[in-house]
Amino acid sequence: MTEAPNTPLRWDTPLTILPGVGPKRAAALANLGLTTAGDLLDYIPRDYLQYAPEAAVTELKSDTIGTVRGTIIQTRLVRRRPLRFEALLDDGTQRCVLTWFNMHGMDKKLYPGVRVLVTGKVGQYDGRVQFVNPRFELQPEGVDAPTVTSARIEPVYPANSEISSHFIAMLIQRHLSVLVPLVQEWYPEAYLAPRGMLSRQQAYSLIHQPQEVLQVTKAKRTLAYHDFMTQQLVVALRRHGIQTGPSAQRLRIDDLVDQRIRRLVPFTLTQAQERVIQEIRHDISGRIPMNRLIQGDVGSGKTVVALYAMLCAVATKMQTALMAPTEILAEQHYLSIQRYLANSKVRMVLVTGSLSAAEREKALADIANGKVDLIIGTHALITESNNFSNLGLVVVDEQHKFGVNQRADLRLRHGHPHTLVMTATPIPRTLAMTVYGDLDLSVIDELPPGRQPIHTRKAIPANRPEVYEFVRSLLVQGAQAYVVVPAVDENADDLAHAVGVHKEFQQDIFKEYRIGVVHGRMNRAERQAVMEQFRRGELAVLVATTVIEVGVDVPNAVIMVIEHAERFGLAQLHQLRGRVGRGQAKSYCILIADTTTEDARQRIEAMIEFKSGFDIAQKDLEIRGMGHLIGTEQSGASDIRFADLLGDTRLLNLAQRDARAIITEDPQLLAPNHTLLHQHIRRLYGATISLADVG
Ligand code: ADP
Ligand code: MG
Repeated sequence: MTEAPNTPLRWDTPLTILPGVGPKRAAALANLGLTTAGDLLDYIPRDYLQYAPEAAVTELKSDTIGTVRGTIIQTRLVRRRPLRFEALLDDGTQRCVLTWFNMHGMDKKLYPGVRVLVTGKVGQYDGRVQFVNPRFELQPEGVDAPTVTSARIEPVYPANSEISSHFIAMLIQRHLSVLVPLVQEWYPEAYLAPRGMLSRQQAYSLIHQPQEVLQVTKAKRTLAYHDFMTQQLVVALRRHGIQTGPSAQRLRIDDLVDQRIRRLVPFTLTQAQERVIQEIRHDISGRIPMNRLIQGDVGSGKTVVALYAMLCAVATKMQTALMAPTEILAEQHYLSIQRYLANSKVRMVLVTGSLSAAEREKALADIANGKVDLIIGTHALITESNNFSNLGLVVVDEQHKFGVNQRADLRLRHGHPHTLVMTATPIPRTLAMTVYGDLDLSVIDELPPGRQPIHTRKAIPANRPEVYEFVRSLLVQGAQAYVVVPAVDENADDLAHAVGVHKEFQQDIFKEYRIGVVHGRMNRAERQAVMEQFRRGELAVLVATTVIEVGVDVPNAVIMVIEHAERFGLAQLHQLRGRVGRGQAKSYCILIADTTTEDARQRIEAMIEFKSGFDIAQKDLEIRGMGHLIGTEQSGASDIRFADLLGDTRLLNLAQRDARAIITEDPQLLAPNHTLLHQHIRRLYGATISLADVG
């Protein structure tokens, strides 16, 4: 029943060429992102409706999908707002209730005497069988459609008010046999079959027209495998490029250097830190540029590990740079590294936007002339300044804001230095393999000794007085407290703000204590002065915006109150909470939250339930999905369509292994049987991989 369009279809043929798609429909489809034949084929159903075989009302079982056929004997508009319409259906065995909410015009379609075929989830209402918002097909007078004897599946597509899922389903069904051949096969069946994968054409056919649900699972797995493969091939190509490309300078890691560095560290390194340092030493002593990710929970001690590598560069008489995502983080790194290096001759400089023009010019000149060894700054500033005298190692503190492409750019422009990336938010392994697949992974999976578990509680805004009474009970014992607020100053949403809370504490709630405040609108010197006072114990309470998120370390601060906790993301809450629990005393985190949304409620519950950043990241992934967790276009993760399969480590491992094997055998994908794959990858990633220079 296919109506073939006159011209042969191509992937990029406009949809208007298809019979049934006029200008109006085309516009509506375009609003869903569908403009070409390829888009349509690539439009993946978000769900599937199952039609059960027909049954008598008396045979229906609650909570299963049921299909019945009968005559409407009565209808009723129960309520106008919100709209509720009821119909009574009789199939000769019994009556059942059909209820529709918010469906206009039902009374025009259903009235006594009309015959319908109804499918939906079977429920109970008032002792009767009830279907809520079921699907129905009118049965024209005297000519009932054939009995539904076997289960049938209809895909449900993302749709909107202009165009229905049903229309899209019909359109795809009608043209499926001409659409499917547009799909290229990248791997022969002989390659796919032993892996339990279908060809891409088979997968597309089944995803739009499954005979049974199991086929959908297999089709999705296949398409996800193909997506993962593409991505892992790019990753493998990049790795190959780094490994066979220009060399890096070997850095000095001999015993003398090792001893000198260790003398600067005022504590014993954890086993995890030692292990990661060994991994790094192995890399930087070689000629292949290191490209490594350190993953470790908040407070696991990544800085000192990175510093170890940086000092090896300095010992080799090379420069090293640490890039932070924000100015405040850059400052905090500067301060903590300055403390480690207090008794060393290492020359440091901090480059941020707050420098005056003259200071900045001097800093850049010093960098260019090799007068400084260790440079700390923001990503933007360091990437801008192109004039290191000889850069041996770059550390990127990245928080997902620095993608694969930026790392490649950094290597190109700065003579292929060793690269170390630190991430404070541990992310699930599958995600790491896609976002950081080009990096080798080191994990610091141990916290320094003496960290306290943090007792996390929630409170509602009405209980603020009790919360602050509790804070007072700790202050009385000489402890310190953080109070975190979402805004700096008066704001349209009427949120608690740093300026206001500071004043309220000083003048009222904690008036016998010294209260400090830090926020992003203060300049660096002011902020540092306050932080330093808090560190020295001269302030009892520090009111702060999220500027204290990272890097602050005050063991005597044993409680953190977070106002409007519902406003903060899960990763951010976890980072914030990491500021307490750093001393010997029992520590607390109290989340004052107005959990009006389900999402907020889940975040708060997750904070109470989970301690480790890994669990929290996993939960975050569940609550918000992939895109948000990384939220960057350069991550490459947006190319993955089946987020539900991201947790499928087996599938991803398979793709990674297969991709690496292919690249080992054919490093530039030049073999004739890889031509289509080569073209596909170039189309997607052309500009960013070395492949582009070749074929
Ligand atoms: P993060 O991994 O969050 O960047 P930091 O490197 O900032 O963690 O370290 C957190 C705190 O723990 C710092 O105050 C640091 O001095 C301290 N620290 C790091 N490693 C150890 C260790 N092995 N023993 C004791 N304290 C440590
Ligand atoms: Mg840190």
